[in-house]
Amino acid sequence: MITTANNLKVMITGEQIQERIKTLAYEINDYYNGEEIVVICVLKGAVMFTVDLVKHLNMPLKMEFIKLSSYGNEMTSSGKVQSFGAHLEEINGKKVLIVEDIIDTGLTAEFLINHIKENYKPKDLKFCSLLNKKASRKNSIEPDYYGFEIDSKFVVGYGLDDEGYNRNLNYIGYKEV
Ligand code: 5GP
Repeated sequence: MITTANNLKVMITGEQIQERIKTLAYEINDYYNGEEIVVICVLKGAVMFTVDLVKHLNMPLKMEFIKLSSYGNEMTSSGKVQSFGAHLEEINGKKVLIVEDIIDTGLTAEFLINHIKENYKPKDLKFCSLLNKKASRKNSIEPDYYGFEIDSKFVVGYGLDDEGYNRNLNYIGYKEV
């Protein structure tokens, strides 16, 4: 087990992440078969994963960025999604791939999927998460694609933060309690 200078245990190395992204991209390229898509990156946590993933996608694609202003059980109103840059109307009639950092309880993913379906008309909607904490799920949401299934530990790095810090790490780590 590798322990880093900032006292984190390494759960998934940077090399493992990059290798898995290549195989995930292969599966995603195979599914879309060259058809144009819109990739929606969920800020801030999915930013590293999204930029590395799209480098391996081979279809014409546009990127959109959304941010949720609150988490967990409070996410019941559609007013809590903010979009950045171009308008999300861009996704009407298009195939859409939502890219997230992690699915834990599944409430965020469920909210987002419902929000998109209720407010827009994507031709197809898929959900891709780098990490999947299956054992923590409070609903029946499963990502269409995911990188790694992990234990119900609080993880940081590669976009995931600890009170704003550690997003810049190129690996996924956790604190031993
Ligand atoms: P859910 O709604 O599935 O419970 O949680 C999704 C969101 O919670 C993620 O997008 C992420 O922001 C946050 N989250 C859940 N688990 C972790 C974790 O282990 N580490 C960090 N940094 N954030 C997490």
